[in-house]
Amino acid sequence: VANGELLAFPPGSAFSSRAELHAAGLHGPIQAGIAGSAANGAESIVVSGGYEDDQDLGNEIIYTGQGGRDPNSGRQIADQELTRGNRALAVNKTQGLPVRVIRGARVSRFAPESGYRYDGLFRVDDYWHEVGRSGFRVWRFRLVAIDSEAAESNQPPILFLPPGAATPPRKLQITLRVVRDTAVTNAVKQLHDFRCQFCGIRLEGPAAPYAESAHIRPLGRPHNGPDTPENVLCLCPNHHVLFDLGAITIADDLSLIGAAGTVRTSKEHQVSLDHIRYHRARYSR
Ligand SMILES: [Zn+2]
Repeated sequence: VANGELLAFPPGSAFSSRAELHAAGLHGPIQAGIAGSAANGAESIVVSGGYEDDQDLGNEIIYTGQGGRDPNSGRQIADQELTRGNRALAVNKTQGLPVRVIRGARVSRFAPESGYRYDGLFRVDDYWHEVGRSGFRVWRFRLVAIDSEAAESNQPPILFLPPGAATPPRKLQITLRVVRDTAVTNAVKQLHDFRCQFCGIRLEGPAAPYAESAHIRPLGRPHNGPDTPENVLCLCPNHHVLFDLGAITIADDLSLIGAAGTVRTSKEHQVSLDHIRYHRARYSR
């Protein structure tokens, strides 16, 4: 079981019990609402209405983390900690990993009438803690359906500066740039221990270190760069943006053009001169 979609069970697949979800591989644990680990993030969650503070808005879910409840009464009797499943979901936000969302029966008007239904991949847009209705601290996660954002991005671009609003509508808070990890980009980050290959900085988040992966020759048309290690750099956000913008390019000897220093490579991770030349030829200022 891993992050992402399971081809055998597309969104909308229905199940009668947690045991069936487990057997399908969609959600491992029989009891816990969050499946995952601090190392790999959360793979799946079940929205079962166990927490009074949950809000289901359809394409957006405010999901309460786990812990601090009395197993008999179900009432919140202690603060929640940023550990276990809660930390796993925080890792999803930090590293851009999707999480499978499964709704239990009648938890909201978006839920099935009975049993459980897999409702697709969501990204963890934000997380924070607050005092819940019971007076104890709970961790909250804003989950946004990835499909809904893909549909929205087909809207025509804004060609002028809109006047804005003192109280922005919720929609404007959605970040449009989704950076998703693949097995390759995640491995490159791990190999560099989340240190920027340009400046050596490692950003420490409270749940996990943060770095971005940059494809030297961009993915997609017309560039069609490959998602392979020799085409991937582990960068800090600033250097990722500067590299994507062409403010920094790389010379054949791996020295930086537009910044001081040299690309940090290792025996295990070499970068392709062809892709470096491709980027330099098209993005150099
Ligand atoms: Zn950097």
